[in-house]
Amino acid sequence: MRENTNIADYLLYIAYLNKKLAGFFENQSPYIFCKKGCSKCCENGEYPFSQAEFNFLMIGFSKLPPEKQKIITEKISQIKSQKQTEGFTYECPFLINKECSVYDFRGIICRSFGLMSINPEGLSKIPFCAFEGLNYSNVVDNETKIISMEKYKKLGENIPEPLAFNTGYKFLTSDEIAKNFHINFGEKKALIDWF
Ligand code: SF4
Repeated sequence: MRENTNIADYLLYIAYLNKKLAGFFENQSPYIFCKKGCSKCCENGEYPFSQAEFNFLMIGFSKLPPEKQKIITEKISQIKSQKQTEGFTYECPFLINKECSVYDFRGIICRSFGLMSINPEGLSKIPFCAFEGLNYSNVVDNETKIISMEKYKKLGENIPEPLAFNTGYKFLTSDEIAKNFHINFGEKKALIDWF
């Protein structure tokens, strides 16, 4: 980790985050269709990573067998040769055969993706996979792109409401979190720009 971010502190934060997110995913389980073999959220994105997250990711990379490291290194070169503009999206180079090769070391956005989150303006943000028949697709209105209360009511009684949580990347890597967990997240940029 970076000099002033102790790995033990970072791991404490990740344990806290995993537990908190597990509770949210459990609460929202009627709307979550994540399953092994689905890697939509890793196939086309920018993947913001802070310095601290990137350093942790590379610990995971260093533990991989050489053949996997080679595949990832080649994918990185290929993506870098294709990148032309800011906002360029790509398949994450750490995705191999639709599985994250560094799962335990993945970034913060990788952990929170799939839930409805609250963006910095205080508005709910529905994950894009809702419009591809996945998470929240059973309650989203494809035309208005918002949650349909009518669809929600049709699901029956005793089903928890579809809710948005404070799980936006900016909040999860905010100064407040950094201070509470003694983490220096450092610079943030698209994953591919760290190479
Ligand atoms: S690091 Fe893993 S979980 Fe995160 S985008 Fe890449 S493949 Fe997906």
